[in-house]
Order: sequence, then structure tokens, then C-alpha cells
Amino acid sequence: MEERIITPVLLDDETEDVTIRPLRLDDFIGQDTVRESIRIAVEASKKRGEPLDHILFSGPPGLGKTTLSHIIAAEMGVGIKTTSGPVLERPGDLAAILTSINRGDVLFIDEIHRLNSVIEEILYPAMEDFEIDVMIGEGPSARSIKLSLEHFTLIGATTKIGLLGSPFRDRFGLVSRLNLYEVPELVKVANRSASVLKIPITQDGALEIAKRSRGTPRIVNRLLRRVWDYALVRADGKITQEVSDAALTMLGIDMLGLDELDRRILSVIADDFGGGAVGVKTIAISVGEEVRTIEDVYEPYLIRIGFIKRTPQGRETTQAACEHIKGKN
Ligand code: ADP
Repeated sequence: MEERIITPVLLDDETEDVTIRPLRLDDFIGQDTVRESIRIAVEASKKRGEPLDHILFSGPPGLGKTTLSHIIAAEMGVGIKTTSGPVLERPGDLAAILTSINRGDVLFIDEIHRLNSVIEEILYPAMEDFEIDVMIGEGPSARSIKLSLEHFTLIGATTKIGLLGSPFRDRFGLVSRLNLYEVPELVKVANRSASVLKIPITQDGALEIAKRSRGTPRIVNRLLRRVWDYALVRADGKITQEVSDAALTMLGIDMLGLDELDRRILSVIADDFGGGAVGVKTIAISVGEEVRTIEDVYEPYLIRIGFIKRTPQGRETTQAACEHIKGKN
């Protein structure tokens, strides 16, 4: 198969700039329903003088799950410890975190659907009764002792809520799904980040970036930086519509925000498999990417804009998708 270079815009994992992360609920843009339910839960628990219930956020990457967890800790005036599903390998890792937590603190577990079952079993009584069983010693002299924990708030984030068993899901008092953002909200994100970073930007410059950011604030912020680089080197440092368009086109991002890998995914389904249905594993092998990346990062937006349909047999492309890739090829 032909080797092509894929633009890293969606996949690179550069450390996020914490300075542009909104710190309070009022600075968090969009997701009105989620924001309101958090506001009410926080105020109610403050009035009761009790720690907040456990919360589960789901939705594609880059929509603000981690940001909201930090905001919740800030609004509650409590500390936050963060970890992630794949990192918590041994029971001792979790026990060490849980026993060092203060009353009301937030424990944030990213990618919570990737916790192993042993850790999940320890979390159940920790979430419900605020106690855990710890094994002391090894071999025949090993024994289990019960440790009581401070009343903490677990916030879980997942891109795949379906992988969480219902007994686990039911232990969260608030379960919120974050959806891809609308363009006007992304314009606000672009303007806010530009103002924090002191980047000169016009309204139509912000709009161009927003339209090509696949409904995702993280991508707005990433593209904003790339376009700013371009503006400084090829223009007078100001982000306008023309500068945004030129920079994004140079990065291989088309008018809908699709990049090279999106187009290859569509082309595999449309051209190589006659429009589908194709299983996601076959697609992943054909484009040389992991199934998880296709499902979590690429597919949600392609489904949202009506380019891919999910059927029980696999993925299918739509007429609109075919017209789009034909225009590009
Ligand atoms: P997730 O945890 O869902 O992958 P993050 O919370 O890490 O997403 O968000 C990615 C970045 O996008 C953050 O650094 C933040 O700057 C920005 N961001 C996300 N949601 C918003 C929002 N609603 N308003 C402003 N910025 C946001």
C-alpha cells in the first residue's frame, strides 16, 4: 500500500498549556446542561456541608472532562488527586492514594473504563462505604484488614461509557455526557484562549479556526497555536480569516476540519469496500492506526457530520462523504 504522511494535528500529545484551562465554572464555555447540573450539585452539597457525590463524565477526548473535574474541586474548595485507569495497576497503588486523601477531596480517574477488575472491586466499597480491605503480609501469614477512608468524591472520565459495567456506573450519583461543541461556542473558546495568550485575532479568523476544529475545544487551542506560528512567520502576526485558511490548508486540514487520516478512513470504506459495511478493525488495519484512536478520536466527528453511519455490520459511508472525498481527491 502507498505510504502517506499523516498530519499529526489530531494525534500529537503535546503537553497542554495549563494557563488557558478555564479555572471556574463561569469561564467554562458551552455544555449548558452539564454546567447547570454541576452548579446545583456543588451548591447543594456546600449547603449541606457534605462532600459531593461521585461523578462520571463521558464523551470524546478534548471536550473538557479533566477541566471540569479541576473546576469542581476549585468550586468546592477542596484538593484534587489525578490518576488514570491504565496507570492504576496494583491494589497497593490505589490504596496508597485513597488512604492519603482528605475529607471532601476529589480523586479524578481518567480513562476509568480501562481500570482492571481487581482495582474496580476495591473501588466499590471505597465509593459506597468509604472503606477498603488491604492485604498485609504474604503467604500463609497474610491477612486482610479493613481501613476506613475519608469521605471523598470520585470523578471518573471515560470515552467509552458502554465499557463500564452497570454496577460500577450505578455507584455514580451524577452521570453526564459531554457532546461535541457547536461552532459559536468554539469561536468563544478561540477568542478566550487568544486573549489569555495575547494573540491578536479577528472575528473571522476565530470563526475559521472554530469551523475546522471538529467540535473540540482542545483542537481549537492546538490549531490556534499553529495558525499563530504561521501568522508570525508568513504574515504580520495577526490571525485573520486568510491567515487561518492558508495555515490550516498547509497543515492538511480541509474546510470541514478533516485531515489526511479522516480522508483515508472515508476512502477505505467508500472506495476499497464499496461504501461498507466494514468492521472497525479492518479500517484500522487499512489505515495503520489503532482501533481505539479511530473509535475515540476520528469517528465521533465523522458520525456527527453525517459522513459515517454505524450499523450492526460495521461502518458505512454516506453520499455526502463520497462527494466530499471526490472533491478532495
Ligand atoms: P478531556 O479531559 O475531555 O479530554 P480536557 O479537559 O483536557 O478534555 O480539555 C482539553 C483542553 O480544552 C483544556 O486544556 C481546555 O483548555 C480546553 N477546554 C475544554 N473544554 C473547554 C471549555 N468548555 N471552555 C474552554 N476551554 C475548554
